[in-house]
Amino acid sequence: MNALWACNRAVLPIDLTGKRALVAGIADDQGFGFAIAKSLAEAGAEICAGTWPPAMKVFVTMLERGKFDNSLVLSSGEKMSFAKIYPLDADYDHLEDIPEDVRSSRRYRDYSDVSIAGVAAQMAQDFGSPGVDIVVHSLANGPEVKNSLLETSRKGYLAAMSTSAYSQVSMVRHFGPLMREGGAFLCLSYMAAERVVPSYGGGMSAAKAALEADTRYLAYEAGRRWGHRVNAISAGPYASRAASAISDIGRMIEHVSKHAPLPQALTTTEVGTAAAFLCSPLASGISGTIVHVDKGFHSMGVTEE
Ligand code: NAD
Repeated sequence: MNALWACNRAVLPIDLTGKRALVAGIADDQGFGFAIAKSLAEAGAEICAGTWPPAMKVFVTMLERGKFDNSLVLSSGEKMSFAKIYPLDADYDHLEDIPEDVRSSRRYRDYSDVSIAGVAAQMAQDFGSPGVDIVVHSLANGPEVKNSLLETSRKGYLAAMSTSAYSQVSMVRHFGPLMREGGAFLCLSYMAAERVVPSYGGGMSAAKAALEADTRYLAYEAGRRWGHRVNAISAGPYASRAASAISDIGRMIEHVSKHAPLPQALTTTEVGTAAAFLCSPLASGISGTIVHVDKGFHSMGVTEE
């Protein structure tokens, strides 16, 4: 028998020791971004967070006051810490794209450059280049998400596309050159990219469809250019802060529990551990893929009453 299989301890670990990750879209301990950061940390990665400037002060204050202490505890008993928390507004590619009234507003004026290029440059300064291995895009916004598509304005539709889809293109463009070979990008999608979910309006369904198409194109281009991988997780519905903007989120969650192959409620940890796998060398052969982490719900056609 192969000596590897003969020993009785686990021999196929997700080992991210020595890797550095940026998880963009963390502003509390409830969402997928936080859970992904935690799973990456459990696997040994150093974690940096990217936080939307309007949410930055509250997040940092709560962190400093110990409000997230319980959620930060890893299975080793140690607490996850953030090497850096960068204010990041994924609506802007460069500093000069940020309108003057936004730059000088109360929630932005204390930060120098919160654009995607600005955070990439700051990370290169903080850690050298190449000095990043994993970049997770766990953010979205659709100002008219409560509107049906027919009632969505052009402005609202394009805003959803800009924050929720184009930002990933920009992040791959700006972070790709900073990443060590074999880098991994990951973004978060939702089944409304493929099928109709009536309460997921405002152009968010189109933004997720674009995000998934872009995942394939970016995987090809970033793979050929830098050797990086790009994947997406299509997560089941979960009552995060962002999801509370969707009027029907409670019913969506109930519907999935009632009809999915696995009826238990989806946990953020399940998304986090799948993300850690996809970002690890164990998934070195996987790129351009949308992995459903939704208790199998996407596979259903006709459901029982
Ligand atoms: P969340 O509230 O934890 O995360 C969304 C984050 O996006 C927040 O931290 C918010 O501050 C940030 N954000 C919004 N606009 C931003 C901007 N312009 N720049 C930078 N950050 C910005 O909620 P979540 O549900 O964990 O969402 C994370 C990802 O998962 C999103 O892409 C979401 O669409 C996706 N997703 C969520 C569900 C769900 O049911 N919750 C299901 C499938 C996919």
